[in-house]
Amino acid sequence: MQVSAQKVVFIHYTLTNEEGEKIDSSDGHEPLAYIHGHGNIIPGLENALMGKTAGDKIKVTIPPEEAYGTRDEELIQSVPIDAFHGVDEILPGMQFHSDTPDGAQLVTVVGVRGNEVILDGNHPMSGLTLNFDVEVTEVREATEEELAHGHVHGPGGHHH
Ligand code: ZN
Repeated sequence: MQVSAQKVVFIHYTLTNEEGEKIDSSDGHEPLAYIHGHGNIIPGLENALMGKTAGDKIKVTIPPEEAYGTRDEELIQSVPIDAFHGVDEILPGMQFHSDTPDGAQLVTVVGVRGNEVILDGNHPMSGLTLNFDVEVTEVREATEEELAHGHVHGPGGHHH
């Protein structure tokens, strides 16, 4: 069975950055399972997997535009430290979910200046060109329940 829209696809993958350093891998885990065409994984990887079958191995280099987006300097904002009640100490690298008109957004603390906290709303992997080494291990039909939920159930997927 070929990878196409609405199919459940299982992959083993290793993700490296432009310097060849490993960022993430499914080594030692169940394969990652996703529903093709549902935005479960980045667009560049979905495109590269289209038409593949179990046993196929691919290497693909994905530019930021087809991965986690380019960096937007307007997403760097400063917020009064008073907004962080309940947090003892604000340190660079801490991540918070902030409520925005577009929904919850992950923001990363990049610095603290006096009573102002500098936040970066860019995805931590934005601006990066990503290299994926992928093996397709299984392709199957999605169940109606999986399509309704928009994610895979069972091993490698969600459990609800
Ligand atoms: Zn579900």
